[in-house]
Formats: sequence, structure tokens, C-alpha cells
Amino acid sequence: MKLTILGFMGGYPADGVGTTAYLLESHGFHLLMDVGSGAVLALEKHLDPKKLDALILTHYHPDHIADMGVLQHIFQLKEPDKVLPIYGHTESPLHQLRDHTFTKGIDYEGNEPITIGPFRISFLKTAHPVPCYALAITEEETGKKLVFTADSGYLEAFIPFSKNADVLLADTNFFRGQEGHKVHMTPLEVGKIAEAANVQKLILTHLPPGGNWSQILEDAQASAPHISVQLAEKDLQIII
Ligand SMILES: [Zn+2]
Ligand SMILES: [Zn+2]
Repeated sequence: MKLTILGFMGGYPADGVGTTAYLLESHGFHLLMDVGSGAVLALEKHLDPKKLDALILTHYHPDHIADMGVLQHIFQLKEPDKVLPIYGHTESPLHQLRDHTFTKGIDYEGNEPITIGPFRISFLKTAHPVPCYALAITEEETGKKLVFTADSGYLEAFIPFSKNADVLLADTNFFRGQEGHKVHMTPLEVGKIAEAANVQKLILTHLPPGGNWSQILEDAQASAPHISVQLAEKDLQIII
């Protein structure tokens, strides 16, 4: 499967980079994970948005759903011929935004895996001010595994959830010294998870606009000395 990073800023867009959105492709199936600010423009560089097969939402904070309305307009206005399924939980009234002329909400409960195209997806409820789910996505044919923490404070449960993942995409919105926060994680915390879970690669994402990212990278690498660690980059593509 191929992962493309479309946007990774935490909270709001900055410096030409939008907020959370990732494209995952396998065998011609295109799954968008979250649809933050700037997601549709960023997606257009890689794929005609109408070729999306599904969208999955981790939660309904604006930096994860900001472009859902314009994506729905594309499905409504640009040769309307197919309905885009939008997977999401129903623990917020905002889930109703998923239903539109040519998009349809499909609910997940978060307590059992679901299948979307070639992917098997398991969930872990995160530590966040609003209900939010991390995703463990396995490509069924190959067994390759991508874990996306979504937005979360540190949870011990991330270690078994991320066990032997090929890629761990981890919320690193906070700096060293802010450990134990209930909203986002620090580089020390995500490094600890990556090391204990023995992941192949740790990608630091949901980065703080304007923050000292080289320090974040250095701290995460020190916390995960045996793991390949890198910062998220716009348009970065990784074959998993
Ligand atoms: Zn966020
Ligand atoms: Zn959030």
C-alpha cells in the first residue's frame, strides 16, 4: 500500500501546509483518512478527488473535517455519478454532516474491526477532549500494517495496538516537558510507544505550527533509539 501525506499541521494550516489528511492506496482503491483544511487542494496534486473510494474520519475537530463540505461539492457538482461513503463514529452530532447529496455516512462502533476495500481497520479510543479513534489499518493481502494515532494524549494501550506496525503515524503536537497531557503527545511519549511496539518506522505528525521541529525529531529519536524516525512532510509518499 502507498501512503501519501497531504496535510499534517496540528490545529490550523500554516506555511502552505494544511491540517490532517492522508491518502492510502492499494490495488487501485483510494482511502482518504481525515479531510482537514487544504486537503482537497493537496489531494488534487495526486488524484482526481472523484476517484476516492472512501473517507474515514477519526473525529470531528475542525482540523480533521474542514474540507468535508468542499469534497461533498465535488461529488455533487462534478459529473455526479457515484456516492462517496464517509466512515465515522456517531458520538458527536456532527456525524450528520457526512450525509449529503452524493456522500453517505457509514457508522463504525469502534469496538470491532471493519473492512473497507482491501483494508482491515481496528480502532482504539484515544485520550482527547472529544470522542476520537486511532486506526490500525492492515492491508489484507500482504499483512502490512499502518497505525495512525489520530489525536491523543499518551495511552499505554498504544503499545499493543501498534505492535510490529510497518509505519506508526503519531500525534506529536506537544514538546518535551508536557508529558502526561490529556490531548496530545510529546516526542518522548511517541518514541516510547514506537520502541516498545517495535515498529519499523515512526512518522511524527500533527506538528505544532511554528514549533522547533528539529528538537521534536531529536527528542523522539532519543526516545526510540532503534527505530527509524522522521518528520511528516507534505506530499511525502511511502510504500508500505
Ligand atoms: Zn487535530
Ligand atoms: Zn482533535
